[in-house]
Amino acid sequence: MAATQKMKIFKLCMLAGVALISSVGAAAQAVTPVQTILGDAPSIPKNIVIMIGDGMGPAYTSAYRYYKDNPDTQEIEQTVFDRLLVGTSSTYPARVSGYVTDSAASATALATGTKTYNGAISVDTNKQPIPTIMEKAKALGLSTGVAVTSQINHATPAAFLSHNESRSNYDELAQSYLKTDADVMLGGGQKYFPVGLIEKFEAKGYQYLSDFNLLDSVKQGKVIGLFADVQLPWAIDDSDSNKLSKMTTKALELLSQNNNGFVLLVEGSLIDWAGHNNDIVAAMGEMEEFANAIEVVEQYIRKNNDTLMVVTADHNTGGLSIGANGEYSWDTAIIRGVQASPDFIANDALADGDWLARVTLNLGFEPNEDEISQLSRARMQGKEVMITSIKQLIDSRSNTGWTTGGHTGVDVQVFATGPAASLFAGYQDNTDIATKLISLLPKVKSQPNK
Ligand SMILES: [Zn+2]
Repeated sequence: MAATQKMKIFKLCMLAGVALISSVGAAAQAVTPVQTILGDAPSIPKNIVIMIGDGMGPAYTSAYRYYKDNPDTQEIEQTVFDRLLVGTSSTYPARVSGYVTDSAASATALATGTKTYNGAISVDTNKQPIPTIMEKAKALGLSTGVAVTSQINHATPAAFLSHNESRSNYDELAQSYLKTDADVMLGGGQKYFPVGLIEKFEAKGYQYLSDFNLLDSVKQGKVIGLFADVQLPWAIDDSDSNKLSKMTTKALELLSQNNNGFVLLVEGSLIDWAGHNNDIVAAMGEMEEFANAIEVVEQYIRKNNDTLMVVTADHNTGGLSIGANGEYSWDTAIIRGVQASPDFIANDALADGDWLARVTLNLGFEPNEDEISQLSRARMQGKEVMITSIKQLIDSRSNTGWTTGGHTGVDVQVFATGPAASLFAGYQDNTDIATKLISLLPKVKSQPNK
């Protein structure tokens, strides 16, 4: 093509972009000219999917890229996170709690647009309830749902559905879910929902499930599915490692039956738990299944261009470091080769029989003499010491580092696709994410259509 022709086409595109931008309203201004020219997606979403990788700081998405990389090819393949990255977000809580947030304060920020103290479940620093995006969506005639791998009354989902001065009030939070009118609640937490409480949910029209295999039998209506006593198993230890993506698929299927739209929260809750444990093997397993769930929503959006997905983390956990101890290396083959979580490997090693053969099989590599004597000493001191010893062995072999068993205050990433996705570009605060999402809800109440 001649240079002048190219220039002409470029100018035409620019003109079209400018004309479209100036002719549409403020909300659509953030939509890039390219998206507008394609003209196939509305500028305001009908449905919103919020996805939170709990504790998933930037090192986790980088680590996941190398964990998934095929070492036999020259290029390092992009992940779903690389594909959908649009911006960053600060996570600091209200002044009173300093710069490092917990999941409760951050989820409150993401659900309400208000900063609060660490431990608060959608109440402000005066312990007064703040309306959440889920409550606003319900009041406008939309459906709402949560699908998580922790107990459903854990800090993140709780801050989207309820209010409490403390995240530790698990029983109160479980009771309060009766009033949320949320349509889909999937995750763990049987321990907090005794028979009497479940009967109250059933009296309100909920279908109750405790067997994951029955999830597919639910075709419509409200559902509360609790598939573990507390949290779901580590994905890497689970015979069905795709529970989060299956719950996400089902939630989309059920919620999309409301023509008014829906707001869904999906949380990869256990990324944070693995981070607290400084467990790179479990962390990568949880990252993989969270990535699968994001891809489920991405596929849904390819078919339903009226749906916005925003993915972020509530904070960073563990201070994960890709490379450590002054060495310029990170050996993903070691991590990929481990067949089960350190929890599982330690438990298995405490049983009788040839424990070393089983540990070697589970680790996927042969420990050297020093490592064997360390493992052997740890084994005699019981399960917790054995778990720690196995994690240390994997860390030192793979050169993985950690700085804390808690959270850190580093900014997290924001990923988005669908209508108004570009509103989330660049730097923002976690409260801005909520404010933007809430501004995208319908302005007037729709009639219930179900
Ligand atoms: Zn945490």
